[in-house]
Amino acid sequence: MFWSEQMKLQGKVAIVTGSASGIGQAIATVFARQGAAVVVDYVGKPGTADDTLSKIKAIGGKAIAVAADVSNPQQVQAMIDQTVAAFGGLDIFINNAGIEFKHPFLEFPVEQFQKIMAVNLQGPFVCCQAAARQMVKQGRGGRIINISSIHEDLPMPTNAPYCATKGGLRMLTRTIAVELAPHKITVNNIGPGAIFTPIDADVEANKAMEDALMAEIPLGRWGKPEEVANLAVFLASDDAAYMTGSTCFIDGGMLRQAGAL
Ligand code: NAD
Repeated sequence: MFWSEQMKLQGKVAIVTGSASGIGQAIATVFARQGAAVVVDYVGKPGTADDTLSKIKAIGGKAIAVAADVSNPQQVQAMIDQTVAAFGGLDIFINNAGIEFKHPFLEFPVEQFQKIMAVNLQGPFVCCQAAARQMVKQGRGGRIINISSIHEDLPMPTNAPYCATKGGLRMLTRTIAVELAPHKITVNNIGPGAIFTPIDADVEANKAMEDALMAEIPLGRWGKPEEVANLAVFLASDDAAYMTGSTCFIDGGMLRQAGAL
């Protein structure tokens, strides 16, 4: 069929962590539109992922929702086992789940630092390991894509633990990309700038903060979750077979902002 020939992820099976909202929801939906069977990972009460599931259903896509805290190895392994049972294997793993709390460094509570580390860095470590073990067992390669941030490079005052986790994700990706290359498993990061999602609710609700942010973005606007999802489709597709260990920034030029120069 003409339409299915256009699909970039036909026959692939993908897990997207934290895909009940924001960028993860967009990736899950766009992947389903591209022909992938999708596992919508979420935390929280049953029904949390219903919005994503109904968006996928509306376009005739294939998806199930599975509750798993990304920092918990048993829950992550159970999610992978459920994926294999439902769809026959695993081809693509998207580490998208992430959190942030902001405080000045001198006042940052260590408990919040630990929570951010657990979700944003231990989570991808646990998930990459479990996903790669499954992919190695299958013997047909695979794709791991981590949703990092411009803050894997760019400091953000009041957000030190978040920046530290994204910097850690940068080196986790580079290191395991080398270790997994013999298995034809590629590992890449996407580094978004300011994307309009619930994680930035504080800035979205404050006109002065939003104006200040927009002044830092050469393209002068928020990015859309779907724009990040389209990049993820490319990285997950056969077209990106020769890319590994890289970060692709998608930030409206924010990292290249020349300020008052
Ligand atoms: P979001 O808050 O909508 O999405 C984060 C998701 O992660 C939520 O659905 C949340 O429930 C889930 N989650 C939290 N803890 C979890 C856990 N322990 N296990 C599983 N899921 C968990 O915000 P978003 O902007 O869509 O964020 C997605 C990713 O994009 C994050 O990693 C974030 O750091 C990154 N990012 C976002 C922006 C932006 O401007 N929005 C910029 C750069 C990077």
